[in-house]
Amino acid sequence: MMSAWMLACSLCNKPLIGLSARACDCGGPIRLKYARLPSDLVAEDQPGIWRYRSWLPLEGNETPISLGEGSTPLVRLDRWSRSIGLDAVFAKLEFAGPTGSFKDRGSAVLVSHALAIGAGRIVEDSSGNAGASIAAYAARAGLGCDVFAPASTPNTKLEQITIYGAELHLVAGSREAVADAAIAEAGRTEAYYAGHNSSPFFVEGMKSFAFELAEAFPSGGPDHVIMPVGGGSLYCGCVFGFEQLQQAGIISSVPHFHLAQSSGCMPLVAAARAGAAVPLEVTRRPTVAGGIVIEHPDRGGLILRLLSRYAGEAVAVEDQEILDMREELARLEGIFMEPTSAAAFAGLARLASAGKIGPSESVVVPITGSGLKDRDPLPG
Ligand SMILES: [Zn+2]
Repeated sequence: MMSAWMLACSLCNKPLIGLSARACDCGGPIRLKYARLPSDLVAEDQPGIWRYRSWLPLEGNETPISLGEGSTPLVRLDRWSRSIGLDAVFAKLEFAGPTGSFKDRGSAVLVSHALAIGAGRIVEDSSGNAGASIAAYAARAGLGCDVFAPASTPNTKLEQITIYGAELHLVAGSREAVADAAIAEAGRTEAYYAGHNSSPFFVEGMKSFAFELAEAFPSGGPDHVIMPVGGGSLYCGCVFGFEQLQQAGIISSVPHFHLAQSSGCMPLVAAARAGAAVPLEVTRRPTVAGGIVIEHPDRGGLILRLLSRYAGEAVAVEDQEILDMREELARLEGIFMEPTSAAAFAGLARLASAGKIGPSESVVVPITGSGLKDRDPLPG
């Protein structure tokens, strides 16, 4: 069973006490550090992400809150790969999660932790997918839930949040204003702040994405992973997962981790281009990729550090490329994704044409959310 863990700053390593802080004094996001790592990737015959329970922060006597998350299909995209001159592109169908997005991996671990420490109510802020996911797992755990969402969130996502019984609060203005409103509410009511863009427990669940890839590839992982990045919970969790496997001696090398953003909101791409250590100030424009519109990501400095550590590329794409890719993947491969997910494919096409990825190198792209969730993407 899991060894002891502690909270520490992911940038300066300073140990942190208590769960209330959103970040270290230095601005670094908080992460979990383990005293020792397991020697086997799979220790228990459990379904989904709980297959890797010994790598997750749950004590032996704590019951996971689960809806069967994880173990998503990994499918090879032969026709689409050929269209961009690559041979081995794989999609991981994260929309097969219980609420239709990759967020369920993180929600399962976060809500399990919230229940274990005696929370009665959870407060989350989200542009849609995470709000729906946290609301579902809160319902599953019998916890109350408040979700703060931008007023521009697609109706299908808002409906999904409320059907689970969560109380929905629409906030006008920037994505940061939404987070600030949620944090204020959590502080006022002493509820558990479940903000997936800063919670270290949410990221812990995302490690299971890396673990599944390590099991699926005989070499211990693909050569490259590229994903859409806004707050970066999947990006950081994926890197942490591979890093821990390497530290434990289970794999010998880790993939390159690339990220895609919409040109309408690209603070990380702008920083990577400038060689900056923190996200740059950008002017936000309307974009169809609503899931990654975050101007000031809490984990921005960490993401940039990981991007550089693993020689990843940061690529910005236009709305038209995103919508074209969404249609191409549906026509060529039978996969219907939300526009945010298609941003990674548009980014991959750019990296392939720039020669940044070799024709025979393996690449994994997560399909982060179902197309059914965001059927009529209007820039907002
Ligand atoms: Zn720090």
